[in-house]
Amino acid sequence: MKEVYRKIEKEYEMTRDSERDALEERKAEIYEKIPQIKKIDELIVNLALSGSKEQIKAPSSESLLKINQDLYELREEKLKILQKYGYSKDYLDIRYKCLECRDTGYLENGQKCDCMKVKLSKELYEMSNISYILGKENFDTFDLGIFSREVKESEGISPRENMELILKAVRKFIYGFNEKNDMNLLFYGPTGQGKTFLLNCIAKELIDKNFGVIYQTAFNLLDVMEDRKFRRSEITQAKYDLLFSCDLLAIDDLGIELVNSFSASEIFNVVNTRILRGKKTLISTNLSPDELSRTYTNRVFSRVYQRFVPLKFFGDDLRLKIN
Ligand SMILES: [Zn+2]
Repeated sequence: MKEVYRKIEKEYEMTRDSERDALEERKAEIYEKIPQIKKIDELIVNLALSGSKEQIKAPSSESLLKINQDLYELREEKLKILQKYGYSKDYLDIRYKCLECRDTGYLENGQKCDCMKVKLSKELYEMSNISYILGKENFDTFDLGIFSREVKESEGISPRENMELILKAVRKFIYGFNEKNDMNLLFYGPTGQGKTFLLNCIAKELIDKNFGVIYQTAFNLLDVMEDRKFRRSEITQAKYDLLFSCDLLAIDDLGIELVNSFSASEIFNVVNTRILRGKKTLISTNLSPDELSRTYTNRVFSRVYQRFVPLKFFGDDLRLKIN
């Protein structure tokens, strides 16, 4: 984990370096085009310097006020000139990629900035090898043509029509991802209906939009939880924390075999906490909502379940078609 942090901090450092270089270039350009601004900058430096010397020798709030006033006026004059020449007001400011943390990764209160969390989850993602899968399973490779157009009597629509409805809900989920709308998705239905594929499509789409996404099978999720419980280390703790703090948690393959009191309460604790924090979760399972509620017979489940849009998958087993 330490290497991960070092790598990320190095990235921030390089970002800040290149921002400083870019600023120096803009400054040089302006000094050449508008020498007046160079003069003002020199005045500002001298004034600030003599001002602080004076404050050391004979501190006085009156003279401090006067100097600050002068500095303010000089800066205002500079901005006016910049704009007169057609430059934006912030042309001579550092251009941070993230204004929240000024590309340090940390907020003033010492907490990790959201942009840092995104970087972290990307790194952890790479550890779990998901980027390889995402290259193959995304909306570009999603083929509606593999779903049958034959109406399934018990459902009243065809798998193809059903998938179109699901895609509609998925798009709504992605476009409204930043809204605090309590919209979480529950994919249910037998294996081989494209649930995992769609989960990966959503993950890819949101990762590309720079959201922090964690994809885990329910089985791995429990591994992370047990690891953290029994082999406490920096990396297990960081992985565990990310389950709560990432923008999207995609839990794949929540099945009957994982239902014992430990796993059930642990998983729903994560999902419930995320809901309370306004964070979104995707779940795919081969259990029906009925089976789920029977299995997880507690108040937490019904409260959690109300915040999910259940989407039913049905049709032929697609694995036979794809391969
Ligand atoms: Zn930031």
